[in-house]
Amino acid sequence: MYADIASALTAVKSLSEFLSLAAKSKTDAAVAQKAAELSVVIVDLTSAMSAVQAKNNDLLSRNHELEQKIMEMDNWKATAEKYSLIEVSLDVFFYANNKDQSTAEPSHWLCTKCYEDHKKSIVQRESSIASGTFYVCPNCKQEFRFSPGWFGNK
Ligand SMILES: [Zn+2]
Repeated sequence: MYADIASALTAVKSLSEFLSLAAKSKTDAAVAQKAAELSVVIVDLTSAMSAVQAKNNDLLSRNHELEQKIMEMDNWKATAEKYSLIEVSLDVFFYANNKDQSTAEPSHWLCTKCYEDHKKSIVQRESSIASGTFYVCPNCKQEFRFSPGWFGNK
């Protein structure tokens, strides 16, 4: 097996040149026989080069995918570090933005399910009626209802 496509190409070029010379020389049957054998080798080499090139393309594509994933993970890690899990009501948890940050972002909550999926989804108040206040995650549509008089631990 050839180490890389470049060396395989060099081999094919040499063989092609030799084959061309051999075809012009009609003086020696042994040379003609060798030229015919080399034709087969060239076909095999071309096939091997195609396989290597296809594998190389697959690896480059996979490498690009992995680089994208690493970048996404790094981006999420930077986002996730800005939030802490809090209990906003008895057994109801959200991720809240850390207050020690020097950002202009208002205080808000993230949906825990979406957070675990590495998605930043800010929980929104949907409605307030007599029986309570409803909040919803705009991403996963999870609803949260809080009883009247509840002000949260925001
Ligand atoms: Zn959600």
